[in-house]
Amino acid sequence: MNNAGGVRRKVVVVGGGFAGLYAAKSLANTEVDVVLVDRKNHHTFQPLLYQVATGVLGPHQIAAPLRAVLRKARNTHVLLQEVTGFDLDRRVVLLSEGELPYDYLIVAAGARHSYFGHDEWAAHAPGLKTLEDAVDIRARVLSAFERAEQAAFVSGEQPILNFAVIGGGPTGVELAGMLADIARRVVADEYHSIDTRKARVLLFEAADRILLVYPPELSASARRQLEELGVEVLTGTPVTAVEEGRIRVGEEWMPTAATIWATGVAASPLGRMLGGETDRAGRVAVAPDLSLPGRPEVFVIGDMASLKDAEGKVVPGLGAAAIQMGRTAASNILHDLQGNARTSFVYRDKGTMATIGKHRAIALIGKHQISGFIAWVLWGIVHVFLLIGFRSRLAVMREWMWAYFTERINGRLITTPGEVSRQPAQANHAAREKR
Ligand SMILES: Cc1cc2nc3c(=O)[nH]c(=O)nc-3n(C[C@H](O)[C@H](O)[C@H](O)COP(=O)(O)OP(=O)(O)OC[C@H]3O[C@@H](n4cnc5c(N)ncnc54)[C@H](O)[C@@H]3O)c2cc1C
Repeated sequence: MNNAGGVRRKVVVVGGGFAGLYAAKSLANTEVDVVLVDRKNHHTFQPLLYQVATGVLGPHQIAAPLRAVLRKARNTHVLLQEVTGFDLDRRVVLLSEGELPYDYLIVAAGARHSYFGHDEWAAHAPGLKTLEDAVDIRARVLSAFERAEQAAFVSGEQPILNFAVIGGGPTGVELAGMLADIARRVVADEYHSIDTRKARVLLFEAADRILLVYPPELSASARRQLEELGVEVLTGTPVTAVEEGRIRVGEEWMPTAATIWATGVAASPLGRMLGGETDRAGRVAVAPDLSLPGRPEVFVIGDMASLKDAEGKVVPGLGAAAIQMGRTAASNILHDLQGNARTSFVYRDKGTMATIGKHRAIALIGKHQISGFIAWVLWGIVHVFLLIGFRSRLAVMREWMWAYFTERINGRLITTPGEVSRQPAQANHAAREKR
């Protein structure tokens, strides 16, 4: 397919996450017309969501309106719409209101957490994927402190304050580390009826070590660093049920003041609607050029795609991979139009990192394993650099400096109505009895 006859081809991009946004940016002001459709009006920098969930940063500091990011792309329209399906034979994307024809389609709708067949747990243990999730978790955590303070003020007793984080991957580790830091240091002098340093932060992992994608030495280092912060790391310990105010661990129920879900991957349901082969997580198997086998005009990229790259490496569900896939899909479309051969995707691994509280982190860069303060500084530099927009970078740096030198965190706002009274009083009673 080429632009013969001067007809401009229409490329529809579904999703303005890392993959879709970088595809759209790569097609900006080229010979095609682009429509980027997302059900949110903003791009979210997911690696810093846990900082919003713990009140370090505000939502607007890690997100940017898609329109603003693409304002200089004169060939690009942004549509705020929900994609509900596809008619691949007619080459149209089905929207909650209407439909959208395309010549090329790039599907990049991402993934969410999987609750392993127990979707009812989501109401009691939110996952962290969107800004709304982060604000919800922030409210649950802060409200737990408030409820405990209120109970202690009335009874004079220190209630149990258990924060359970389920899943020892990077998100679970980052959340647990930051929660421990907050309880031990940030808010310790602000509550006068409870001792927040007695709060327990429990990190549950079913496997025998946390951070399974890292080498065992870095997992062990992360565990040590978490334990120094006071996190109880429970490996080989699957959580078998989740209810309001409690979780079941083996046969025992444990009361929780807030429970956060940080495990399992379920690709967007749009993947299965494409009719191709999908894996257990619903990720779509794609050809080396990132197209849907048998449909060269359709690309599936980012967290929705399942592939080994041209060098045989399994491509991980990471921001860097999503960005690289976005660029490759876009360049393959342009190759088609210019009569050139498509290129196969090769994942360039630039390293992975996870922070653990205020000063600590682990990083794996090539064969180099780095732990502690240096890894933390590296993490900060990389993440500020990757944020979209100069203003966000400045604002985040300023916020981090403030938090670093003053030990104060400004974003600890409860903005979800009714959150403080959400958990039934019995949960607190149960907590006291259990103690
Ligand atoms: C908490 C957390 C921390 C992370 N930390 C790191 C990290 O430190 N380093 C790293 O490399 N990676 C990290 N990741 C992974 C990384 O963020 C993802 O791999 C990356 O965001 C995937 O990009 P994507 O474009 O495929 O999907 P997403 O970024 O999820 O974007 C999908 C987009 O599609 C839109 N969408 C979905 N369904 C529809 C629909 N039906 N209609 C319209 N729009 C739709 C969504 O609104 C969203 O904008 C982290 C992820 C999370 C959740």
